[in-house]
Amino acid sequence: MVADVTGGAAADAAPAIELRGISKAFGPVQANKDINIRVRKGTIHGIIGENGAGKSTLMSILYGFYKADSGDILIDGKPTQITDSLAAIRAGIGMVFQHFKLVENFTVLENVILGAEGGALLTPSKAKARRLLTQLAADYELHVEPDALIEDLSVGHQQRVEILKALYREANILILDEPTGVLTPAEADHLFRILRGLKEQGKTIILITHKLREIMDVTDEVSVMRRGEMVATVTTAETSPTELAELMVGRKVLLEVHKTPAQPGDVVLAGRGLRVVDKHGIERLRGIDIDIRAGEILGVAGVAGNGQSVLLELLAGMIPGTGTLTMNGEALDLSLKRDNARTRREDSIAHVHEDRHRCGLILDFMAWENIAFGYHHVPEYQKNALLMDNHAILEDAKGKIDRFDVRPPNPMLTAESFSGGNQQKIVLAREIERNPDLLLVGQPTRGVDIGAIEFIHKRLIELRDQGKAILLVSVELDEILSLSDRIVVMFDGRIMGERDPEKTDARELGLLMAGVTDDSVTGDAA
Ligand code: ADP
Ligand code: MG
Repeated sequence: MVADVTGGAAADAAPAIELRGISKAFGPVQANKDINIRVRKGTIHGIIGENGAGKSTLMSILYGFYKADSGDILIDGKPTQITDSLAAIRAGIGMVFQHFKLVENFTVLENVILGAEGGALLTPSKAKARRLLTQLAADYELHVEPDALIEDLSVGHQQRVEILKALYREANILILDEPTGVLTPAEADHLFRILRGLKEQGKTIILITHKLREIMDVTDEVSVMRRGEMVATVTTAETSPTELAELMVGRKVLLEVHKTPAQPGDVVLAGRGLRVVDKHGIERLRGIDIDIRAGEILGVAGVAGNGQSVLLELLAGMIPGTGTLTMNGEALDLSLKRDNARTRREDSIAHVHEDRHRCGLILDFMAWENIAFGYHHVPEYQKNALLMDNHAILEDAKGKIDRFDVRPPNPMLTAESFSGGNQQKIVLAREIERNPDLLLVGQPTRGVDIGAIEFIHKRLIELRDQGKAILLVSVELDEILSLSDRIVVMFDGRIMGERDPEKTDARELGLLMAGVTDDSVTGDAA
């Protein structure tokens, strides 16, 4: 049920936060338009919306990073000027940043008191902080070793330090912007337990996420933003993921991926003992065996940074390594003395790089030029031995833009003027329509709208059903679980185990992602 934003339940006490008529423009972009929201005291309030909907901007206004062009902020019913982050802290607001702002070579304790009264290096404040930290840790299951250096902590623990920092400053209202993007499922569960504990102590929590499941799990109410506007606030218990997705996108969306069982054929790509040592001498891939068959999607799950990207780049001929690799039975050269990214493409391996800004697109080139990028030399783009046939490329680009529903469908716009989802479609159109035997695809839907996700997932399934092999790397477990025919989990440069998606779940994969060894599997993906 969709409730009126201003009506209903909050009548009893003043809301912890009320925003009235908040607007904010960045040049021509209206990031927030006349936003109204009430966040009730002692609740977990979700804010959900697609990329660019204006969520972070709204929270930055609340935290004093940006000044709204118009509108009012009320804290506990009192109009409050939040001119900077100090004013926000005084108003009892704490923010847990998407990118942590901790000092790496300081201890937990030093980071917690840094910037708060006393200063980091004063012994008395350290002793006081230590007592408080122990107390907070006991109260909220927020355990971290006070004397550990930040650089030695996992991302999940660093996040706890951010929360402790806010609590140390006596925050009553805690804002978390996309906190689970970097966490394993177990770490995310732990975070949610902490948040529920904080709520029981009367704290108010604003949780920003694009993950519908998290919203359903942990929030009491949820506000949905779309294109800078607040489109609805609903009670979580009375809504559904489907309704929320529809509110986010503004039309009906299919959340489930429909596919028939895979019909795997011959092994297309076979790798044995794959190793990569980076330029700092660190072993990033530690001996991986992998087989990918025609007509299957092999999903690689893992927390970002555990070697998945290195594996893709090795297979795509972008970085050298050792071991053996065959494609359709032919040996490829992992040292890259003979091979490179171009010869890989000629060997029918296509690659959608996870970082399309750095590797998939040239942002200030036009869409049609980007669609030919990497494939300039193919015969159908040549006028004669010397000249490229720009007309042919443009016509080809128009067809791809049409078939992949790139919006706006204008090949003459520069890549940078498209939204993330449409940029991704440009890259996918280019790589998929080369009709590769093997598609390597990293984070296919990162930063992509739900509507475009639906489209991209369908295309990947279609490609599989045409008998192509697909290696899918994603940090989104839901994506891995719904698309893959087989799943391997990577941790610290190794494959921790293989699972049948029909017979596993996020919890089990999460353990492997956290490096919990799996005795039943030998690390062999074959
Ligand atoms: P969300 O957090 O929901 O993904 P944001 O609040 O980050 O959305 O962005 C909303 C819109 O405002 C986007 O179009 C974004 O490009 C734009 N925007 C955000 N911050 C800035 C900025 N500092 N300068 C210019 N444009 C910005
Ligand atoms: Mg954001």
